[in-house]
Amino acid sequence: MEFLPVFLDIKGKPCAVIGGGDVAARKVSLLLNSGGSVSVVAPDLCTNLKRQAESGAIQHIKSRFMPEHLHDAVIVIAATDDRDINKQVSEVARAQRLPVNVVDDPDHCSFIMPSIIDRSPVIVAVSTGGSSPVLARLLRARLETLIPGAYGRLATLAEKFRGKVKQHFTESSQRRIFWETVFQGPIAEMIFAGREDQANTELSKAIENSSHDTRPRGEVYLVGGGPGNPDLLTFRALRLMQQADVVVYDNLVTPPVLEMTRRDADRIFVGKQRANHAMRQEEINLLLVKLAKEGKRVLRLKGGDPFIFGRGGEEIETLSANAIPFQVVPGITAASGVSSYAGIPLTHRDYAQACVFVTGHLKDGTMDLDWEMLARPNQTVVIYMGLLGLPVLCQQLVAHGLTPETPAAIVQQGTTPSQKVVTGTLASLPQLAVDAQLKPPTLIIVGKVVSLQAKLAWFKPDQDAEGNFALTRNE
Ligand code: SAH
Repeated sequence: MEFLPVFLDIKGKPCAVIGGGDVAARKVSLLLNSGGSVSVVAPDLCTNLKRQAESGAIQHIKSRFMPEHLHDAVIVIAATDDRDINKQVSEVARAQRLPVNVVDDPDHCSFIMPSIIDRSPVIVAVSTGGSSPVLARLLRARLETLIPGAYGRLATLAEKFRGKVKQHFTESSQRRIFWETVFQGPIAEMIFAGREDQANTELSKAIENSSHDTRPRGEVYLVGGGPGNPDLLTFRALRLMQQADVVVYDNLVTPPVLEMTRRDADRIFVGKQRANHAMRQEEINLLLVKLAKEGKRVLRLKGGDPFIFGRGGEEIETLSANAIPFQVVPGITAASGVSSYAGIPLTHRDYAQACVFVTGHLKDGTMDLDWEMLARPNQTVVIYMGLLGLPVLCQQLVAHGLTPETPAAIVQQGTTPSQKVVTGTLASLPQLAVDAQLKPPTLIIVGKVVSLQAKLAWFKPDQDAEGNFALTRNE
């Protein structure tokens, strides 16, 4: 190792920062966050620092650097834009054996500043030994996605119960197993979901009952997997995908999204096809209950957002009735993801002040929709599950007042390499869709905003993609 990583206690101690610009301001805020008492030496201050000096958060020494400015400091940072001054600061500090950092100049540093992931009291520091700050920042971004925002609260909870756990479990190996279970199970999830009180109660109970009942408690994560492109998963979705024991998914979940689940998790396909449900909804609801009762962490993974045409509500109603703990993770719904990737803004000051999502599912050859409401001007209508009903849809919208020239688009497998966008009008789209031989899933967008697509399309799908969105069809 080139450097010794340490965490320094600077609470209430004098810290000297030389330089008054934005770079200095960033270092000052780190020092302040760690409780340091900061003096900034500079003839002038940037707006941020000026405000902090006025409020008394920092002390401003309005001067060029002089050696006596370091006399009582415990740590020194040189952040001026003058290399000679920075060098001088470094020399004076080193002569006094003070730890000194010169921003972006490793040769003059006695310590370097890491990239930080702050989940106080948990702190992760990343360093490349000064060789590449950009690489450290990228690494930091990856770690940010892995460590939930509420990790700090988990550490605070652990701190609170530390004494009690030590009293209850005399062996250190027992304590380790106990904490590992807590940090990876439902109690940690309660903290992440903001249910601190419940976590406190459950942790107390877990300590009391630990010798009698060690059975794991199952739970269900109802997770939105987004419109198909794995880049569009949320951090929370990804984390739960990687800890679930069993994954229950349907055919809107693309293989690359499914790939992100834990390798050794069991995978159960319950995909629905239009006329041929692989598993009836009631059976899915009961399956989730059964798996959770076996003590499993169950990931119910759905395409898009679970609460938008996803029957997510019904699934958790059954869970709730059976007192199974659950949480819901929103996903990017098709309307949002697909329109972005197609270059069609759903609202626009000149064209659409409202946007409506409807299902175009055909029942006995018709659609049960409020056509008057849908045929209003200055709004965008997004139709899910509408490919088969497209001719009926276009015809009804015109019959209820939209002009046949109203722009309309249908998008195949949006956000994925096999995305295809077909644009036309209410009059022309049904035939264009047939000619294009679209593969499901497809989303229909109707409204003047569609005319912007020619200008705003930015996503370049893969011309050779096979159109294998998922394992089975759903339209
Ligand atoms: N819960 C999902 C929607 C389920 S209904 C969500 O929030 O997105 C299924 C319909 O969603 C499909 O018939 C199709 O109309 C639409 N859909 C989902 N993903 C899509 C995609 N990548 N491209 C186009 N349409 C999509």
